[in-house]
Amino acid sequence: MSGKSSFFADVNRSFNRAATHLNYPKGLLDQVRACNSVYQTQFPVRMPGGKFKVVSAWRVEHSQHRLPTKGGIRYSHLVNADEVKALAALMTYKCAIVEVPFGGGKGGVKISTTKFNTEQLEAITRRYTAELIKKNFIGPGVDVPAPDYGTGEREMSWIMDTYATFHPGRIDAQACVTGKPVSQGGIRGRREATGLGVYFGTREVLNDTQLMKRIGLEPGLEGKTFVVQGLGNVGYFAAKFLSESGCKLVGISEREGTLANPNGLNLEDVMAHRRETGSVENFPGAKFNEDPSEALYVDCDILVPAALERQITSENADRIKAKVIAEGANGPTSANGEDMLHEAGKIVIPDLFLNAGGVTVSYFEWLKNLSHVRFGRMDRRLQERRGLDVVNAVEELTGKKVSATLQAEITHGADEQDVVRSGLEDTMVGAYEQIVEQILSNNEIKSLRTAAFTVAIDKVAKSYLELGVFP
Ligand code: GLU
Repeated sequence: MSGKSSFFADVNRSFNRAATHLNYPKGLLDQVRACNSVYQTQFPVRMPGGKFKVVSAWRVEHSQHRLPTKGGIRYSHLVNADEVKALAALMTYKCAIVEVPFGGGKGGVKISTTKFNTEQLEAITRRYTAELIKKNFIGPGVDVPAPDYGTGEREMSWIMDTYATFHPGRIDAQACVTGKPVSQGGIRGRREATGLGVYFGTREVLNDTQLMKRIGLEPGLEGKTFVVQGLGNVGYFAAKFLSESGCKLVGISEREGTLANPNGLNLEDVMAHRRETGSVENFPGAKFNEDPSEALYVDCDILVPAALERQITSENADRIKAKVIAEGANGPTSANGEDMLHEAGKIVIPDLFLNAGGVTVSYFEWLKNLSHVRFGRMDRRLQERRGLDVVNAVEELTGKKVSATLQAEITHGADEQDVVRSGLEDTMVGAYEQIVEQILSNNEIKSLRTAAFTVAIDKVAKSYLELGVFP
């Protein structure tokens, strides 16, 4: 949208604002902020009819204070070096906030996925992986990609297979990439992780009575209205979990336009309609507008931008009606746009905290790949047996029967998905607590983004000090 300042410059503006609240030498802060390694490559892909097209691609390792570096790979015709740097930097801060022991990285391949068939996409993905291998920009202990806009489990499988082919006998090869299908070493719960994290984070903010008082909203998610921009992996699951918790979905935006209904939209029905007709248009009972950005201006309590960056800028921030902007996407609000939202008394739940659920569960997947054991495998049955012992003891002591539902609950042993979801919830709740603590300890910090950046920078700077890089 607004091309006035660069995305990376905006990330750094947030960084600089937060850094004023910290007491670190300038040189150390400069090191934390800088992108350590930027790799650009170009390679040919054969098009139908035998012609070649040259594809540009990047991998950026923003900070190697912890290894591996971690972050998704984006396929989009809009990808550029500035964007990949900004996204890699956000990954560093994101990992720090949720205490995932990785540095930040990001990849980008400048292609429009709709213009290539599956074979070409596979060829591009495998070639890109080979380029990363050649330059040591991928590996379980070096740099571990994951899905992002335009990529998913299929691409991660191709990446893993290519890496494993180049590294025969490497027992940790599966850990070179996360977001894989479960059958290829993926983890149950990764697919919905970012959206579920968006839900947990939004729930925490909405339950914060102090904050809600400030913006004049009743605490709690129940009964709130929301709009989601983008029905991709993040947007869909965020909308699903918010809907299930009693929030009313009143607007959706996709490539083809905006769908709105103040009385509520049933997410699954809209998804089915889109699958059948290829568009959200003509969905019964709802208003359709060809402009996808109209969704941003729909009257609601919570707006969830879950598509691409820089959707809310100084050019349109004054049209946003939502009181809470929950950043499912990376960088959907420009720095100037955010200032305007704050002046209008709104709350922005920042990306580096709110969408960190994806990388959190990627961390669990990486651990699973390194340990070669599924979570829950060792103790699920033990937990079930212990639960049954408790039920039996209670029944024996009271002479009463425990209801079947309660018995089922008590005797359920945690499987992989349970463990993953519990770890994710704990992570998001803990991260929010740290952000709140930061705000409470310094009354000059007004925004959640500045607080989140302050927490993150503090952690990264400390680990540089621990490494002895800055004695
Ligand atoms: N691409 C996702 C993000 O922006 C996930 C990164 C990961 O799992 O490494 O956070």
